[in-house]
Amino acid sequence: MSKDASLRDALRVPHGPISVSGFDSGAKPLEPKSKRLEHDLDQMADLQERLWAESTGGGERRVLLVLQGMDTAGKGGVVKHAVGVFGPIGVEYSAFKKPTEEERAHDFLWRIRKRLPGPGMIGVFDRSHYEDVLVVRVHDLVPKAEWETRYDAINAFEQELVDGGTTVVKVFLHVSYDVQRERLLRRLARPDKHWKFNPSDIDERAHWDEYRAAYDAVLERTNTDAAPWYVVPADHKTYRNWAVAELLRETLVELDPRYPQPDLDVATLRERLAPPH
Ligand code: AMP
Ligand code: MG
Repeated sequence: MSKDASLRDALRVPHGPISVSGFDSGAKPLEPKSKRLEHDLDQMADLQERLWAESTGGGERRVLLVLQGMDTAGKGGVVKHAVGVFGPIGVEYSAFKKPTEEERAHDFLWRIRKRLPGPGMIGVFDRSHYEDVLVVRVHDLVPKAEWETRYDAINAFEQELVDGGTTVVKVFLHVSYDVQRERLLRRLARPDKHWKFNPSDIDERAHWDEYRAAYDAVLERTNTDAAPWYVVPADHKTYRNWAVAELLRETLVELDPRYPQPDLDVATLRERLAPPH
């Protein structure tokens, strides 16, 4: 395996008490030389195809990318630029919004389980089960006694995924309070970005410190070896997009998916394709 410095090592959340404010949202650890980029993107597309091919031969392996972050942190940008390199085949994208009445009538993982990637797929969660200990905790949407039990439930759930062949990559897109303000102002300044502007983002911004505390708890209590968290500095968009792509690339390189080797009688098949005389 390559001896290159690993971005996963650089961005991996350490075990123990965590304060999100201890991470620099403007950092650019292991920023690449631009020339390497094209090669890496080709490699990612190739690895994804191999992962899919492997599943057609019975392989069970798959990847789940979990994207979390405050509004404007760039979940959409990451999906477009980092996940976009894979093309539509083999990628399943799911955005989790405010639960419907039906979803609320079930356990919080019910709607999540329905969207899990199948063998050979790369599943992408734009928000996730973590909202059930983030927005839910900040706004008291369920009693504390209930959301308190969810950290353990999440850890057990993710262990189950890992045991079934899923590699879980959990990314917290870390944007600063000031950069969020700039991005919201920029959206207001551009009519073609108004569709992205949600006035309630400003209400959520008023709860910044409570969200920080809720993220601290997530990063401390659900940062398991089976399903680790990565903090991606998200104040610089280009770096952020590259970093998530690189986390996926490293993950796929390590998985090293293999093309299945179907038993084809190539000589006979070639003969059948011979031109008619
Ligand atoms: P966005 O991702 O910006 O389009 O917004 C989706 C909204 O759905 C956010 O305000 C989330 O906080 C909210 N949301 C997602 N999951 C949940 C959940 N489990 N409970 C309550 N609100 C949620
Ligand atoms: Mg939003």
